[in-house]
This record gives sequence, structure tokens and C-alpha cells, in this order.
Amino acid sequence: MAGRNFLFVPGPTNVPDRVQRAMVVAMEDHRSSKFPDLTRSIFADLKKVFKTETGTAIIFPSSGTGCWEAALTNCLSPGETVLASRFGQFSHLWIEMVGKLGFKAEVVDCDWGEGVPVERYLEILEADKGHRIKAVLATHNETATGVTSDIAAIRRAMDAAKHPALLMVDAVSSLASIDFRMDEWGVDICVSGSQKGLMLPAGLGIVCVSKKALAAREKSTQPRCYFDFGEMIKANGTGYFPYTPPLPLLCGLRESLSIILEEGLDQIFHRHHYLASGVRAAVQNGWKLELCAKAPKWYSDTVSAIVVPEGINSAHVIDVAFRRYNLALGAGLSKVAGKVFRIGHLGDLNELMLIGALGGTEMAMLDVGIKVEPGSGVAAAIKYWRGNDNIPKKRVARSEVVYASQSTGSTEGN
Ligand SMILES: *Cc1c(COP(=O)(O)O)cnc(C)c1O
Repeated sequence: MAGRNFLFVPGPTNVPDRVQRAMVVAMEDHRSSKFPDLTRSIFADLKKVFKTETGTAIIFPSSGTGCWEAALTNCLSPGETVLASRFGQFSHLWIEMVGKLGFKAEVVDCDWGEGVPVERYLEILEADKGHRIKAVLATHNETATGVTSDIAAIRRAMDAAKHPALLMVDAVSSLASIDFRMDEWGVDICVSGSQKGLMLPAGLGIVCVSKKALAAREKSTQPRCYFDFGEMIKANGTGYFPYTPPLPLLCGLRESLSIILEEGLDQIFHRHHYLASGVRAAVQNGWKLELCAKAPKWYSDTVSAIVVPEGINSAHVIDVAFRRYNLALGAGLSKVAGKVFRIGHLGDLNELMLIGALGGTEMAMLDVGIKVEPGSGVAAAIKYWRGNDNIPKKRVARSEVVYASQSTGSTEGN
């Protein structure tokens, strides 16, 4: 098919040209004396992205799922219990892994479309006087439903209950796109991966580990091998890996970290919020459809799950979008299969790319019989974006272009 594929699944995301070029490298000796120059700068910049001074960033050649396993097997002992909540396919799969590895999960089931139930967590933690619960699991951004949870509030609940459990957070679809603060929120293990906000192909599992988590690892009697933090940290400390690292991905990560730090984390978070708000305007004001996320406090700035009207199969929308318009939308997973489709809006992205995706989504919806007004979603998004600032106000320099809607009568920038 001519033209570009419009990739709007919530991972893998678009890889910027700069990153793509940086990955075209000749292989080199990963035990050379020069190799640590690359790895040391990567680990230092990853810590900035996790917002940690005291944590340790670790990279596994794996996907994010491997880091779920790393988090559990390094810090728990056989049969120990975690507190977790299920409200979408990703939070569900992590809980399932807890059981498969022989740990126990105390599970709070929530409606799909809501996030971590902090009040319930508080009650359970307060009641757990014997500290049977060793870790609290939280999916920061549930990619299946487009729901973001309040990690700072979970930390406050844990502190209020004076509970010593570790806080383990899945930030696979939020890191480097939605604000995340490892140190300030007292997160002990943050799990992430390369193919979402970090704008790389899949293949790197990236974790950040607190001192408290490393101390728990010392006491753990759980067997583990490939995903052991210990061997990794020992080798990384000298700039090396205990086994062969994927060099092109590391070169790509070096470049993507540079791009991220050049734009600045605050600007990136703002851009994601601004772009997501335009998508939500298209869904709600333009198409008059509903998001799977049940209330504004849950709205995700990296992915929107859109509920299709009764009698329509969302898989049909996705298939027509792909076959006829070369647009990849995210499927409804598990419990919401057939009921929602998803637009991923994270990573290397701007307004005009999203206008393409919204236009393609409208056409596909019309093709399968959803009665939306042609152009209504695009119009609502345009209205939102023109009325709002894509740069945090305080950072707009005087010399920046004056937008027509904000013009004060000066002819500058016209
Ligand atoms: C994508 C994703 C994962 C799984 O990551 P893989 O890299 O596919 O293993 C886990 N959690 C969340 C929230 C995700 O979005």
C-alpha cells in the first residue's frame, strides 16, 4: 500500500528517524575498554527519566513482561503474598504471573475503566497488622482500558498504614510520557520497556530498583537466574553486562534518551496531555462516544480506549482501518474484546499525525455503520488544539510565534 502505515497502537510506537539511524551500527566487542562509555551514560540518563537519585536502573534484553518477573522473583520468597488490583488485561496478566511463580495475590477486582482503588488498599494494609503482604502492585497506566492510577496516593496510603511492603509499579506505558517520580513517590521497583514512551523497538526490559528493594533481594530465597538483579548490577557497575547485550538497541536507547532530555520531561508530559485532550475532545464532543475510562481522574494521556455502540464489533473497525486506510488501531483485549478499540497517543507524535489517525478512525467507523458525523472528531480535536497551548505557558519565549487565537494585535508572526 502506498504511503506510510499510521501506527497508532499503544506500543510499539513510532521510532523517530534519529533513533532509527542510531541503531544502524556495526557490531562491536561488548567487552572492549570503550564499551562502558556507552552504558554509563545510558544508566545515568535513565535515572533522570525515572526521577531517581538513589535507585539503580537495570536493563534486561527482554520485553516488559520479563521485568514483571524480575520484580517478583528478586524481592519475594516462595509463597509470599502481594496486594494487587485487576482492572484490565495488563494488571490481570501481572497477577496471573504472581500465581504461576508460586506467590500468592490478594486481589481487589475493580470495574474495567477504573484504576487502583486506593481507599481499599488503605483498609487492607491497615488490617494487615502482621505484615503478611510483602509487596503492593500497581499498574500506573492500564493500557487495555486507558486508565491512569495515582501512584503518589498509593504511597500516602502505605505510609498512613505504616506498612513496610515494597511498592512495585508497572510503568511500561507511562514512563517518559506521563509524570513518574521514583524517589518522591517511594517506588521500590518500577518496571518498563523500550517500545512505548522510550520510542524504540521492543527488546529492552528496563527496571529501576530502590535500595529497599535490593535489601529485600538479599533476604529472598526465591530461585531465579536470568532475571537476577545481582549479576546485572555487579557487571553494570563496571559498565558491562553479564551476557551479550543487544548493541543496536542500546545505541537506539542512547539516542532516544538524548531526544527526551532535549525536549525535557515536563514538556513531554505536557505534550502528551495536550494531544490526549484533543483525542478525548474528538471522542466525546465530536463523535459523541464514550471512553472506557469511567471518570476524568482516570483518563490516560497515552492511550484512549473508545467504546463502540451496541451491535457493533470493535474488531471490525480495527480491521477496516487497517485494510482500507493503512491505520493500525489497538484491539480490545480480553473482557473488553469487541467492545472497545484503542488509539495510542504516546511517543514521537504531533497534532497532524493524530489528525490523520482521527480521520482514518472516522472513515473506518462510518464504513462499519457507526453513525458519526463525518469530520466531527477531527473538528473537535482541532478546536481543542487551537484553543490550547502545546508548550507550557511559562516556557513560551517572547520570540516564539504568536498564534492567531492569542494574538494581541501585534503583526509579529503573522
Ligand atoms: C505493553 C505493556 C506490558 C507488556 O510489555 P511487553 O513489552 O509487551 O512484555 C506490561 N504492562 C503494560 C501496562 C503495558 O502497556
